[in-house]
Amino acid sequence: LEVIVSPFRDQSGALNGVVAVLHDISQIRKLEKIRTEFVDNVSHELKTPVTAIKGFTETLLDGAMYQEDTCREFIEIIDNEAARLSRLVHDLLDLSKIESKHAQIKTNPVDINEIVRDTAAKLHGQIDSSGLELKLALPGQPVVAEVNSDMIDQVLINLIDNAIKYTYAGGRIEVEVSEDDRNIVVRVRDNGIGIPAADLDRIFERFYRVDKTRSRAMGGTGLGLSIVKHIVDLHGGTVGVHSTPGVGSEFYFTLLKNAR
Ligand code: ADP
Repeated sequence: LEVIVSPFRDQSGALNGVVAVLHDISQIRKLEKIRTEFVDNVSHELKTPVTAIKGFTETLLDGAMYQEDTCREFIEIIDNEAARLSRLVHDLLDLSKIESKHAQIKTNPVDINEIVRDTAAKLHGQIDSSGLELKLALPGQPVVAEVNSDMIDQVLINLIDNAIKYTYAGGRIEVEVSEDDRNIVVRVRDNGIGIPAADLDRIFERFYRVDKTRSRAMGGTGLGLSIVKHIVDLHGGTVGVHSTPGVGSEFYFTLLKNAR
């Protein structure tokens, strides 16, 4: 709360009272704080790979390039860091595109089953090479919602990609689509590492990660779930998660069903 107090005087200059203006600035402060934190996070996330690329390049140029083993090792690190940088820039651009799109996304009536099948087919190679199994549980009839299919594809990619990253080989991922009177519900389930209860509230925030080192090692940027939430919000749906550490996680999102 911001309080501005000014004296109120009569013509002779004698104090006649005070005027107090009370401003509730907590909301503004909160937004400012979120923005500053975001910029700090982005700067930090971008600086880390750039510093590594610069450092290893300089060491190579200083002579390390003439030792074949070291040279190869360093170039692999540079390649990895460049890939991280590229993912970050890609995710940040996605986020800002979504944020600027407010209320003017292009939508079409689409069978959600079809998007799930297409996305699953795209991720098949990645799932196989991680030693995981993917099961789809789709209703027999089309479930149609008014959506931007590229965006819903992105939501599914991010959720399935996470299920892959945080599940050990031999594990199982399930994507289930169901419907009730008004909503279509899509669930992505895994039997992976799970998420501690204390972190569940925060994982949809930008850059929030339960275990930074693990996320980094898996190629994560910490932006995937915030993109998911943004897109689903834009579609008027909701997102949520149930998870038990050591047992697995279930992420779900809802979409408004088209009237038949
Ligand atoms: P990241 O790029 O780090 O995966 P996300 O925004 O996609 O970022 O997810 C945020 C965090 O939520 C992750 O770092 C991880 O700690 C946790 N998380 C997300 N999905 C899962 C999952 N399926 N199983 C376990 N933890 C998960």
